[in-house]
Amino acid sequence: MFLTYEQFLERLAAVRAAIADACHAAGRTPGSVTLLPVTKNHPPEAAHYAARAGLPAVGENRVQEAREKKSVAALSDLRWELIGHLQSNKAKLATAVFDRIQSVDSPRLLDLLERAAAEQGRTLGVLLQVNAGRDPAKSGCALEEAPELLERALRCRALRVDGLMTIAPLDEDLATARRAFEALRTCRDDLAARFGVALPELSMGMSGDLHEAILAGSTQVRVGTALFGARGQPVENNAA
Ligand SMILES: *Cc1c(COP(=O)(O)O)cnc(C)c1O
Repeated sequence: MFLTYEQFLERLAAVRAAIADACHAAGRTPGSVTLLPVTKNHPPEAAHYAARAGLPAVGENRVQEAREKKSVAALSDLRWELIGHLQSNKAKLATAVFDRIQSVDSPRLLDLLERAAAEQGRTLGVLLQVNAGRDPAKSGCALEEAPELLERALRCRALRVDGLMTIAPLDEDLATARRAFEALRTCRDDLAARFGVALPELSMGMSGDLHEAILAGSTQVRVGTALFGARGQPVENNAA
């Protein structure tokens, strides 16, 4: 059984407290970090809970799953963000389904999204995904490729580049995550200076490493497990 709305609210309060703690430790205002609830592998209720609690957007990692959920959930004000790897053959569909795509990591994908957004007569928000932790298991362009990718992205008239996204390498030592987050922030600062653009969004940090991400300058944490419980498993009463 999926968790109740009341259980979700308890978890939401705990996550918000953790964000506030990290902001305090970093000398930042809590309002400088947004929370993106990650509803992947959870039933459409997860999106309903998020919307009911006043959260403006949710994150999903598969195009098809998001498309089905969107039609079932029928929440017209909720924004949907793609945080998972995007295959070229789904670029068009993804452009129709999502309000923003955080996983743009190749020139080819940029071109396909640019064409799809132009055809659909809209401006599509994107983040460039960078493999800031140099993890062979993660998608994202290499840090060295980021300037070239951004240069190309800035030429795409139907795309709006909001900033960068990364996923830290899986490692029990949080210092590894912290190094990856700091590398992404440095990368953003260098790109912003070199290209004269703001790139305000730094999407980094998940349930297990949001504290480190916020210390390093995250503006958006993507949180699944801490809000909705383990994916595809029943959620116990008062589970923390
Ligand atoms: C699943 C996922 C998350 C959320 O992870 P949790 O550990 O469940 O908080 C965040 N970002 C991406 C890209 C994901 O795929």
